[in-house]
Amino acid sequence: MVINRRRFLAGLLGASAALLGAGRHAGAAVSNKARIVVVGAGVGGSRAALALRRLLPKAEIVVIEKEPKFVWRPAAFEYALGLRSWDKITRSYDALAARGVKLIRATVQGIDPGRQRVTTTTGPQDYDLLLLASGIRLATETIKGLDLNPEVNACVYDPLQLPTLHKRIAAYQGGTILLSIPQQPLQCPPAPYEFVLLLSEHMRRQKIKGRIVVLDANTSPQPAPLASAFDAALQSHRDVIEYIPWIQVGAVEPGAKRVVSADGEAFSYDLLSLIPPHRAAHFIREAELAQAGDAFVEVDPVRFRSTRFQTIYALGDAARTPYARTASAASACAELCAHAMAKAVSATGREIELPATFDSPCYPYVNREQALLLRIAYALKRGNEEPRVESRVQTDTEPRARYVAQRAAWEQDLLQQIFGA
Ligand SMILES: Cc1cc2nc3c(=O)[nH]c(=O)nc-3n(C[C@H](O)[C@H](O)[C@H](O)COP(=O)(O)OP(=O)(O)OC[C@H]3O[C@@H](n4cnc5c(N)ncnc54)[C@H](O)[C@@H]3O)c2cc1C
Repeated sequence: MVINRRRFLAGLLGASAALLGAGRHAGAAVSNKARIVVVGAGVGGSRAALALRRLLPKAEIVVIEKEPKFVWRPAAFEYALGLRSWDKITRSYDALAARGVKLIRATVQGIDPGRQRVTTTTGPQDYDLLLLASGIRLATETIKGLDLNPEVNACVYDPLQLPTLHKRIAAYQGGTILLSIPQQPLQCPPAPYEFVLLLSEHMRRQKIKGRIVVLDANTSPQPAPLASAFDAALQSHRDVIEYIPWIQVGAVEPGAKRVVSADGEAFSYDLLSLIPPHRAAHFIREAELAQAGDAFVEVDPVRFRSTRFQTIYALGDAARTPYARTASAASACAELCAHAMAKAVSATGREIELPATFDSPCYPYVNREQALLLRIAYALKRGNEEPRVESRVQTDTEPRARYVAQRAAWEQDLLQQIFGA
């Protein structure tokens, strides 16, 4: 796949280090004593903040995060199924503070790009450069009845609902578990299928007689290169799992304990685990950082700078890029983005050297002991005209124990880089 976008020209090759935003620093290069505000201390935001700290020792690096602790999402299944404790899948943000990053516990509510200010639940924060790393938002409002009754659902994608999911699975003695998967864009596309397979395995091990109904808005398991492997795995669990593709959830009726599809078909449940469609935070749309009809920050995929405001950057799940919405990609992009931001505020900052390459490995479980491989190798190249992103996908659809071991090593390495443990 080659992504080649004409509008990179102005943003990537023509722009000087001086920022031309309409705000406080209009027309002037921001000094390397800049105040850089990062929204979100997930994988991307934390990693970028640490890289900025390293690259710009004189700058003030401020991270605004709404949650008290970091939750390692790739281990959400293990926690939900009682295989890992909450302590093992969370980390304290003290590790960031100890390395010179200022943390503010608050929820960002709005952005004023003209004044270079974000509004938060604890007051305004001004910035010279802003990095949006706020991840995805689960758009519960797209499923009728869900916003008014959030307690009926326990979603594996929502860190705040994970403890409830964990308790409900522990108490589950039979009946129907109803799980839904939205259409792309999807954070970590293999994750819902992994969860369903591990859940079914859990039921078999615990000898729980029940069934899992999966309503998938996609026509086949995602992502496409793993579709047949997941199909085969789901088939091997057909005594437990009923997989129904191409069904979009339209409404929840908690009184009747049923879900109604967009086409009016009803499905009853005893335990509900809907994954709502993915969007970016409301403030991104309100600040007009997304293209019409989209929900994610439009950025150039080499420097991660907004195509609308030159003092705003975005990466990870919140951004519209050619990269996968995975922790691997968010982490790699954080380094590239931090270099681009450092260059923008400092004459001594390093330009991203092209060609640059990075890998986004993923080891989706098909059972506790075996996983598949999906590795996307990205190459950022300077073509005749403009930088372009090429990607190459490598898969191994044969379940193997060694990928579970590689998954553990990948996790340890990534968390070590951010939290030191
Ligand atoms: C169940 C599951 C399994 C997964 N498995 C894998 C895997 O095996 N491999 C892999 O590579 N990826 C996996 N992923 C995907 C991976 O976790 C995400 O792609 C990654 O976390 C994205 O990083 P991010 O920094 O963009 O966003 P996030 O990690 O989501 O971080 C966003 C942060 O912003 C904060 N925030 C949001 N809004 C605000 C606000 N208004 N104010 C202040 N703070 C805010 C959030 O609290 C959060 O801390 C999985 C995801 C899930 C849900």
